[in-house]
Amino acid sequence: MPPITKRVSLALYSLQRIFAIKRPMSDSLPLTKNAWPELRPGWVWLCGAGPGDPGLLTLHGLNALRQADVVVYDALVGKDILSWAGTAELIYAGKRGGKPSAKQRDISLHLVELARAGKRVLRLKGGDPFVFGRGGEEAQTLVQHGVPIRIIPGISAGIGGLAYAGIPVTHRDVNQSVTFVTGHDQTGDTPGSLDWRAIAQGSQVIVIYMGMKHIAQITQQLMESGRSPSEPVAFVTSATLDHQNVVESTLGTAVDDAKAAGIEPPAIICIGRSVLMRQVLDWQSFESGAAPRNLDPLDRGRPAESA
Ligand code: SAH
Repeated sequence: MPPITKRVSLALYSLQRIFAIKRPMSDSLPLTKNAWPELRPGWVWLCGAGPGDPGLLTLHGLNALRQADVVVYDALVGKDILSWAGTAELIYAGKRGGKPSAKQRDISLHLVELARAGKRVLRLKGGDPFVFGRGGEEAQTLVQHGVPIRIIPGISAGIGGLAYAGIPVTHRDVNQSVTFVTGHDQTGDTPGSLDWRAIAQGSQVIVIYMGMKHIAQITQQLMESGRSPSEPVAFVTSATLDHQNVVESTLGTAVDDAKAAGIEPPAIICIGRSVLMRQVLDWQSFESGAAPRNLDPLDRGRPAESA
């Protein structure tokens, strides 16, 4: 029989689960009380869950999970993160692969309904809700229907996912700008509004979301617009998760290399010399005892911090 204090706390825990007592985070984390907003009935919070590793959810995200009555989540949101939702109802709203998004309006209107029913609604999306996540559209529909919202940013796969692969999305010796691109639009085609020639000429480093479907066309267009076939490319799948896979390639060989390595969407694709930095910054391989492959992959011939 456990000691009395343990039994009491177990009983309290069970009661909390049964009656779904909403607990803001002020009791357990060393931030000021006011820093923890209350998710009120009838509100919808749109929250980024980060790229996969549950540790990359923000504290505001965790605070939201602990208060929500309903969590409406997308395909790329990790199960561990959902398990923190306590007794909240979990509703899957995933769409994958650039299919026509007839359902998008249904999802937005469902959020409106849930809010109008007086629920505390958490809309949880992979990465950051405002980065190729249709978060802006959902938020706009909610506001148009008079539903109050809060936005909780998340770590986007094109930044955090690359960081887990040892690729800094900016690096002083490589780029002073970065271009985030989506590989396909709502219809599944490469976005007609994208001027690949301009991107090829003006973007030092290109980070592509949803790029696998049209990778052959994209790499071809970039090379035809002047990018070198030897330019480094990295594919990152399941970024930040245990089964993260990274394939280093070049623009000229990217299609074949991705195929040979069995790279399947969803993947983040990074095009640019920052990929070379992985030779020195692949920190996940250090955890398994590997040494850096090359301490000076950009051939600077001088210490990293010298001007
Ligand atoms: N809002 C998300 C992006 C949604 S679009 C964000 O900010 O990250 C979906 C695309 O994101 C996928 O096709 C893929 O290109 C990328 N992506 C998201 N999570 C990923 C992950 N864990 N590993 C690799 N790519 C990922």
